[in-house]
Amino acid sequence: MQKGTIRVQTENIFPIIKKFLYSDHDIFLRELISNAVDATQKLKTLSSIGEAKGELGELRIDIKLDAEKKTITISDRGVGMTAEEVEKYINQVAFSGAEEFVKKYKGQNENNIIGKFGLGFYSAFMVSDKVEIFTKSFREGATAVRWECDGSPEYTIEDTEKADRGTDIVLYINEESKEFLESARVEAVLRRFCRFLPVPIFFEPKAGEEKKEDSPAPAQINNTQPAWTRKPSELTPEDYQNFYKELYPYHEAPLFWIHVNVDYPFNLTGILYFPKIKQSYEIQKDKIQLYSNQVFVTDEVKDIVPEFLMLLHGVIDSPDIPLNVSRSYLQGDPNVKKINNHITKKVADKLEEIFNKDRASFEDKWDSLGLFVKYGMMTDDKFQEKANKFHIFETASSTASEKKFYTLEELRLATETLQKNKDGKLVILYTTDPVQQDAYIKTAEAKGYIVVKLDTMVDAAFLNQMEQKWSDVHFNRVDADIADNLIDKQENTASVLSKDDEGKLKDLFNIQPANLHVTVEVKGLSVEAPPVVATRPEFMRRMKDMAAMQGPM
Ligand code: ADP
Ligand code: MG
Repeated sequence: MQKGTIRVQTENIFPIIKKFLYSDHDIFLRELISNAVDATQKLKTLSSIGEAKGELGELRIDIKLDAEKKTITISDRGVGMTAEEVEKYINQVAFSGAEEFVKKYKGQNENNIIGKFGLGFYSAFMVSDKVEIFTKSFREGATAVRWECDGSPEYTIEDTEKADRGTDIVLYINEESKEFLESARVEAVLRRFCRFLPVPIFFEPKAGEEKKEDSPAPAQINNTQPAWTRKPSELTPEDYQNFYKELYPYHEAPLFWIHVNVDYPFNLTGILYFPKIKQSYEIQKDKIQLYSNQVFVTDEVKDIVPEFLMLLHGVIDSPDIPLNVSRSYLQGDPNVKKINNHITKKVADKLEEIFNKDRASFEDKWDSLGLFVKYGMMTDDKFQEKANKFHIFETASSTASEKKFYTLEELRLATETLQKNKDGKLVILYTTDPVQQDAYIKTAEAKGYIVVKLDTMVDAAFLNQMEQKWSDVHFNRVDADIADNLIDKQENTASVLSKDDEGKLKDLFNIQPANLHVTVEVKGLSVEAPPVVATRPEFMRRMKDMAAMQGPM
């Protein structure tokens, strides 16, 4: 038997890193700035335990774009590196200094550190012909070093002069990536990835030009203390509203929000907002954003967050969300699954809490909440179990000024045995169009039935699904064959017609296809009721509606 070690040829791995590590070239900025943030956070940690001496000075990160020289420079005032450290951390691909630091200083704010894989730095070569590092360690008496590499496995390293502690990374942007020499493009990327990073970041385009006397100071592009990183007890409702505006400037104020704050068994913070949702499905442009330690990961949360939660807005931040690479990777990640379950539970708990504490306000917001709750009930069994307690039906006769709602349980109690069918199921009478079906509603209500509104886009699917989940419930549209579906409590309670009339009318209408059951209302119990209305069975109507929704065959 022979044993061996698989050797990795760097010549082979470089093109792979450059091409395939990240499908999205924008992220080189995220990676290099994350490293600058890490270097800064490390310095703070080392200073707090006395390993770094002296004043730290202003800790900031500067991004400078020089379109003429075709360079982007990322500068930090963090720990810097000695020549040995450059050798160890930069020259060894996939050796993560971040991971090493976290292990060594366990318990000292290790959650601040973003890096993990030891690959991020090399994303610089996706957009650069050449990369230079100028760095000076925080250690007393350290010599500054300059490292240079053109993306081949060869590099040079030498001593150099550098006044300040910290690191400058200079990227010589390659021809294919010249879009990154446009300040608007760079700024857009910075705003996307760095908006909430914990160290102040300044962007200065065209720093290479002669500095004019009155040229404005570079602008800070990030908010280092976004609301979700602060303690809920420190925040006023206004703070939450303002943060929402910061995230979604074009949206109406949210209905309410949940501040998520967990540190066991995983780390998770965030603020989820319930937006105002119109009754129609709008294309959701504003989405939940995923962050990892304040670093933007993605807003493509489909398949990562349960579908119904995608209707929410806000931010979720967890160091356990891998800063990585592709969405399919995130999908399979067990932490992502746990986070999902937790959020679902949180959302359900919050809704239940509002429902119990302030039902009036809950009902008030039902127009927006309803869509979300129903969608959740259809797609997530755990959510549905909880939501049974706070899902409410609005009655058909509700007016804008006077609304009346029932939970399923309340509906059961209110109708007692009156709205039961032969199988003992609760029959929920509903309307899809309170105006058109007004006559039927009035008739049914006159008989003491309760009619509820199921008139939104989601309702046709909702009632079909719920009939399966609530095994003792049957939905029946108010203009369908109520007579057949309700037991005759008293004579003629359920049927609009006397048996006699019904018989006559059936004869009259026997030109109808044999399988189409027809009852006819002749008496016009309410004034507005049309004199003759043919109704068709619930099942038939649903089939037809569904066919209509699918369009012509
Ligand atoms: P990771 O951040 O996942 O550890 P990277 O490839 O991004 O991997 O970086 C490798 C290592 O290089 C870092 O862990 C760190 O030790 C070092 N490094 C990179 N950039 C800087 C910087 N700006 N200041 C100090 N050290 C840095
Ligand atoms: Mg990194």
